[in-house]
Amino acid sequence: MKMLSLIVPCYNEQESLPVFYEEVIRVMQEIETEYELLLINDGSSDDTLTIMKRLSEKDSRVMYFSFSRNFGKEAAMYAGFCHAKGDYVAVMDADMQDPPSLLPEMLSIMERGEYDSVATRRVTRKGEPKIRSFFARKFYKLINKISDADIVDGARDFRMMNRDMVTAVVSMCEYNRFSKGIFGWVGFKTYWLPYENVERVAGETKWNFFSLFKYALDGIINFSQVPLSMASWFGIIMTMLSFFVLLFVVIRRAVFGDPVAGWASTICVILFLGGLQLFSIGVMGQYLAKMYLETKKRPHYIIAESNADEVRKIK
Ligand code: UDP
Ligand code: MG
Repeated sequence: MKMLSLIVPCYNEQESLPVFYEEVIRVMQEIETEYELLLINDGSSDDTLTIMKRLSEKDSRVMYFSFSRNFGKEAAMYAGFCHAKGDYVAVMDADMQDPPSLLPEMLSIMERGEYDSVATRRVTRKGEPKIRSFFARKFYKLINKISDADIVDGARDFRMMNRDMVTAVVSMCEYNRFSKGIFGWVGFKTYWLPYENVERVAGETKWNFFSLFKYALDGIINFSQVPLSMASWFGIIMTMLSFFVLLFVVIRRAVFGDPVAGWASTICVILFLGGLQLFSIGVMGQYLAKMYLETKKRPHYIIAESNADEVRKIK
């Protein structure tokens, strides 16, 4: 029988985790497949780890990996991928926004063998602040235009993959991870499963507008070199423009003489160009900062505590 690994990144999910566990158990009873639950504690400051330990004591399919601090959801997912042993591997949030009830359908699509992965996308963003939805849509439009990773609007990280795809994802060991881009970049045949947005069962989202904006920028910088080439384009356009301005100034000087004027326009041009230069240096700085972190080759996460070895030994 094929085995399914479920990876669940958790950061301060003490309220959601028990609800999530019960629901997964209920859903998995309906389908007869072997499975393991990999709970990743991403440096929670509440009782998430205690709950994980309790669950793993009563259920031998539950494994927990507890990070030494908060490393972020991307690192938590990566840890999951590295430790999952299943033929199929799925990632899902602990807050029930990735409904476990979709698992049987996803698994049956995978078992047909036609697709390498089943991914989910929200067709509505009901219950989400309007402004967040607006910027999210714009972001997906932009990143698809300027990068070669195919990123679907409304795509969640919630997806099930076969071993081949997981191996490919694990082989992408970049430090700055943007999973939505990585899943798209590795390719493979993906089936898209649409569903209606579900709100969190408990607790609060860890994202605010600023952190989402940063996430979007990271996505762009990680998967596109377009911002980098923008500086040279600005440069080329400015040079051409300045050539015409030069012509204009020379002709005006020849025809009308040279009354001292144009202080305002000079200042405008200086400020504009200064701004453009700082912006371009800033863009380069962003890429340089990413490179700096990549070259250090720091680990993606540090596991302080886990029961995985014991669980695997018993099995
Ligand atoms: N999460 C995590 N580390 C973090 C932030 C979030 O592991 O630093 C987990 C969180 O526990 C949840 C999932 O990632 O299971 C999605 O987080 P959240 O619900 O806050 O994001 P949203 O659904 O609002 O996009
Ligand atoms: Mg959520």
